Amino acid sequence: RSQVAAVAAPSRCGSTQNMSANVKVVVRVRPLNNKELEHNSQIVVDIVDDKMLVFDPKEEIRPFFYHGMQQQNKTFLKRANKELKFVFDNVCGPNATNKDVFETSTKDIITSLMEGYNCSVFVYGATGAGKTFTMIGNIENPGITYLTMEHLFHTIGSFGNEREFDIGVSYIEVYNENVYDLLKPSNTPLQLREDSKYGVMIAGLTLCNINTARELLNLLENGNKNRTQHPTDSNAESSRSHAVFQVYVKMRGKASSQLRIVKLSMIDLAGSERASATGCIGDRFKEGANINKSLLSLGNCINKLADGSSYIPYRDSKLTRLLKDSLGGNCKTVMIANISPSNTSYEDTYNTLKYAARASKIQLSIKKNIVDGDMRLSQYVKINEELKKKVKEL
Ligand code: ADP
Ligand code: MG
Repeated sequence: RSQVAAVAAPSRCGSTQNMSANVKVVVRVRPLNNKELEHNSQIVVDIVDDKMLVFDPKEEIRPFFYHGMQQQNKTFLKRANKELKFVFDNVCGPNATNKDVFETSTKDIITSLMEGYNCSVFVYGATGAGKTFTMIGNIENPGITYLTMEHLFHTIGSFGNEREFDIGVSYIEVYNENVYDLLKPSNTPLQLREDSKYGVMIAGLTLCNINTARELLNLLENGNKNRTQHPTDSNAESSRSHAVFQVYVKMRGKASSQLRIVKLSMIDLAGSERASATGCIGDRFKEGANINKSLLSLGNCINKLADGSSYIPYRDSKLTRLLKDSLGGNCKTVMIANISPSNTSYEDTYNTLKYAARASKIQLSIKKNIVDGDMRLSQYVKINEELKKKVKEL
């Protein structure tokens, strides 16, 4: 019944057989919030099943999808009945918990991580769409960062004495094209250094060793307190920065000297809405402009990767420079696109869905990270680039 706008074949990201994999893309539709309910918002996202949604459908959406939410006096603001069908690896509806999202998005990547692949997770979407809720969550509904780490520690436990592990984490934010350490607050930005031998390094980055997912909760909580937050017209809670949580896993089989160092990056991106839509001036406008610069570069890199270009413009922004090894090459990527179902977020939702559809077309060529000999975890940042050159198959 629907015209197919963007059908992306479900990816093979969870597969361990393939040496090439798509980016796995999961779309999460949050419930209507109080403001949207007060404005009698109309729902413009029809969740067909766990892989398909229709944006701006011709037919009225059956409200039982949005359990317990009554709509009265429907307004037809910003509604064109585009009837665009999108297919993703997974679509999570408004009743999905963070656990449900974890099960369909990041659970598999721990298997890939243990096998030696670098992995990264992006949450993308407009301010207020549910990115931080997905990533961090709350006590009753812990976010995918905690759930993924809990699964990592569980998986590590299942190896018994077979392997030795060393886990280190870092947490930084990219704000106004500067990089700040959220684990050691300072007004002085960290410097990215490009080294011909080692690639991109972060000078003075704090790496914390952790042994349980619980320890992580304190660390995230403290780190989040250090995030740069500024109220804007569009959302008082908005965060104008990109938060980048990285986990470095060093592992070695007891019987061999073979060492693997793999990295998991989880990135809570700043709001994807255009700077003009937030009504900002002065400093706030500068933030918006820079956020757009980083997100624009990320979008450009995604487009180039999706096209199979040999040149990817990672150098165009801080975020893409930093994530050079998380968005192509030796990496498995999961993108979670967060959207509101309300017609009041029509443009943002449409743009996010187009971005997500584009991302799902990326084909990555991936390799396992294996090196011989001993190495200290703290050296990881420096040697990351070099590892790629030393890679050899099991
Ligand atoms: P973002 O980080 O994208 O700006 P947030 O994650 O801060 O957005 O979400 C905005 C508000 O909506 C928060 O109060 C959050 O608790 C709530 N929210 C977001 N997603 C959900 C969800 N799936 N279920 C319940 N509340 C949600
Ligand atoms: Mg947020």
